[in-house]
Amino acid sequence: MADHQNVPIDPTLTDLYKDLHRHPELGFQEHRTAEIVADRLRKSGYDVTSGIGRTGVVGILKNGSGPTALLRADMDALPVKEDTGLDYASTATATDGSGKTVPVDHACGHDLHTTCLLGAADVLAQDRASWAGTLLVVFQPAEELGSGAQAMVDDGLYDRFPKPDIVLGQHVAPLPAGKIAGHPGASYAGSDSLRVRLIGRGAHGSMPQASIDPIVMAAETVLRLQTVISREIPSTATAVLTVGSIHAGDAANVIPGEAELQLNIRSYTDDVRQRILGAVDRIVRGEASTAGATEEPTITEIERFPVVINDPAALARTLDTFAAWLGADNILDPGAGAGSEDVGILATAAGAPLSYWLLGGTDPSLFTTGDMNDPALLTVPSNHSPHYAPVIDPTLANGVTALVAATRTWLPAS
Ligand SMILES: [Zn+2]
Ligand SMILES: [Zn+2]
Repeated sequence: MADHQNVPIDPTLTDLYKDLHRHPELGFQEHRTAEIVADRLRKSGYDVTSGIGRTGVVGILKNGSGPTALLRADMDALPVKEDTGLDYASTATATDGSGKTVPVDHACGHDLHTTCLLGAADVLAQDRASWAGTLLVVFQPAEELGSGAQAMVDDGLYDRFPKPDIVLGQHVAPLPAGKIAGHPGASYAGSDSLRVRLIGRGAHGSMPQASIDPIVMAAETVLRLQTVISREIPSTATAVLTVGSIHAGDAANVIPGEAELQLNIRSYTDDVRQRILGAVDRIVRGEASTAGATEEPTITEIERFPVVINDPAALARTLDTFAAWLGADNILDPGAGAGSEDVGILATAAGAPLSYWLLGGTDPSLFTTGDMNDPALLTVPSNHSPHYAPVIDPTLANGVTALVAATRTWLPAS
């Protein structure tokens, strides 16, 4: 059956991938990428709308009656200095949200996602006898900022286009190329990043009695926060609370006026998330009050990713297709990951099931067992590392084939 074999790959896709890799763009700055995407989609025969959620692009192709499938790729890169040594490595820089000049690298592989979806969109447009229904290809901005999918929904994605019956997406991962992995249910953690400002009163370092010391307040808060996961969350639940940043003061003999903490929280259920957020609020306010602070501390959200929930039946249907193509041995269950993703927003906002999988993209010769216990999983470069880059062959062809095969499964020819 055609949908259980590698689809023939447009030879220009490799050059397109290298070009996108050399020209990475930060979240909401994907202007060049979006233009290339829109141009390619138009040439493939799609109706194209650009500028949805600032830099997002949507292509739609109607092919008779049938359900609607949404295929999603993200387009943004990271402020990372690439150190892969590849001849198509990025040397790009950009200005980030705070006005700083930063190196930019497709260290998470979103250039591969974009290339694979363009490849699959073209294959499906050329071969309309193999499927029926409506295809919505969504190229979203700013996944790394946690706000790109929401920006597209807020900009009327589902007012302007039909709501999908299924949302399909993939992420390249440091698994052996030729393997695909998916976990049913809660598969990627919800993530909340918070900024906490503790406001005290500054004074000369020799006069603590004139101060309300925010450094001591911050220290007490950091220690007390360690009890949230250990004392307030049941042993059956999984969660993480990390204080990743602490800043106060500039001199040994000056008590500063305030201290700032940055926290990251990972959780898998709304109940656990609410408990942790409630505990953080209580502890921060409690420590400020204990210290005699006269001004309330502030807690503000930096970014938020909801938990990614793979619909078990939908994922099983998609993975069955991949098993028929790659062999059941090459389909893995990676368990729930602590990483985060905003793809779930596209499914939740449409009330549609999500089927989201990991695409192996690392040289298979580096692995021994090739399963989730392989020791190489701890040593090969992973996403966000300056050394991370997928092997083009066969990852590109596999990524295109996966999207095409999944689409044919969900939009079967009548
Ligand atoms: Zn990433
Ligand atoms: Zn990513």
